[in-house]
Amino acid sequence: MKLCIIGSGLTGLAAAYHLSDTADVEILERSPELGGCLSSYALGPKTTIEKFYHHCFSSDKNLFQLLEELGINDRLEWLKGSTGYYVDGTIHPLTTPVEILRYPHLTLIDKIRLGLLVVGSRNVDAETLDDIPARDFVIRWCGEHAYASFFEPLLRSKFGDMHDQVSAAWLMSRVSIRSNRGVEGERLGYLNGGFQLLIDRLEAHLQARGCAIRRETGATALERTDRGWQVNGTPYDAVISTVSPATLQAMGGPELPPVPYQGAACMILGLEREVTDGIYWVNMKGDAPYGAVIGHTNFVTDGRYGEQIVYLASYYRGSVPENLEARMLADFRTRFGVANTDIHWHRMAIEDAAGPVYTTGYRHLIQPYVKGGLYLAGMFSAPNYPERSMEGSIIAGRAVAQEVLGKIT
Ligand SMILES: Cc1cc2nc3c(=O)[nH]c(=O)nc-3n(C[C@H](O)[C@H](O)[C@H](O)COP(=O)(O)OP(=O)(O)OC[C@H]3O[C@@H](n4cnc5c(N)ncnc54)[C@H](O)[C@@H]3O)c2cc1C
Repeated sequence: MKLCIIGSGLTGLAAAYHLSDTADVEILERSPELGGCLSSYALGPKTTIEKFYHHCFSSDKNLFQLLEELGINDRLEWLKGSTGYYVDGTIHPLTTPVEILRYPHLTLIDKIRLGLLVVGSRNVDAETLDDIPARDFVIRWCGEHAYASFFEPLLRSKFGDMHDQVSAAWLMSRVSIRSNRGVEGERLGYLNGGFQLLIDRLEAHLQARGCAIRRETGATALERTDRGWQVNGTPYDAVISTVSPATLQAMGGPELPPVPYQGAACMILGLEREVTDGIYWVNMKGDAPYGAVIGHTNFVTDGRYGEQIVYLASYYRGSVPENLEARMLADFRTRFGVANTDIHWHRMAIEDAAGPVYTTGYRHLIQPYVKGGLYLAGMFSAPNYPERSMEGSIIAGRAVAQEVLGKIT
């Protein structure tokens, strides 16, 4: 069977991993590198850093299994993920219960209600909250003040103008996964050497099985024939698309529901000094042109990079806001007192289809694995609801491979 996979993100690579022993697999990737949202920059001969910050969670069982099969599970390290909230020029640590109790911008009643929301999130079935706006849900549980002062800035920085359309399903799954912590805070997983190691191992595995990987070869034209689909004029027995439904449709794919997507603009900086008071993840309240400052080297703390690595995370809808890179840099320098000489280098990664926006009613937009004779899997698939993740993409890649294998046998 001659099989085409469009996109070499984790979904495409995972699908290829499960099919390369059975089918004649060809992967088309528009970019020079593999990995999609999980691709990395090289910092040195043996050091890489993700273009977009990444960590994994203790519940990511399918990711761990894949790491084991690829012989790199011993590279997984569990590190402390501290958090904070930047409000009016001050970073408030919010990692331990004591720090949360000291946080001055919520009342004690707000904190008790917030605590109940966190406990409630552990038993909630996200799908039952799909039709409820996150805003209404939080106000019901925690009141107007906690919403306006704590949750709304977080939702706004993640979803911009669509923040009040986001469902409680997304919010509660987020609260649940991020509140799985002990008194010292949350433990998050990272791959020593970077997640590029996973991409490299997958690539080596596929190459050893004769899989053709075509970089800088975007799928531009999809056409239905009597026997199936052809991509860029080449006929295949089966085609798996892992790109967003809008991208697929634009190249001639079947009509799909309008899954709302947003873009991510992520700046990474190599710095002379630490800037977030030792905290890994600082959410920003206010008008900064980025929603979080992520001190990667406050997470991976063993000095392996020889400098401080910081991300500035920003999301957008449509096209990248004008002058975003310059505005992010200028704001960061002023707000955090960073001199030009403190910045060794910086780079900006842009991805227009960085993930779906989980608006109310989103569960009806979840795509099946087969549509109009095409195989579909990616961030729009069921395992990536109500939040996309490496784990979700690995499961979706395997599930779509099983659909294809069902056709072969
Ligand atoms: C900012 C950010 C932070 C994240 N942090 C985490 C995290 O901490 N933990 C976690 O578990 N997950 C995280 N994720 C999610 C995780 O990265 C994704 O769920 C996963 O990598 C998506 O893989 P995918 O293959 O489904 O999609 P993608 O990675 O988007 O892959 C799609 C591929 O298709 C290619 N493509 C697009 N159009 C074409 C075309 N026409 N022809 C050929 N190729 C094409 C793209 O270049 C890309 O390589 C994060 C994502 C982002 C954006």
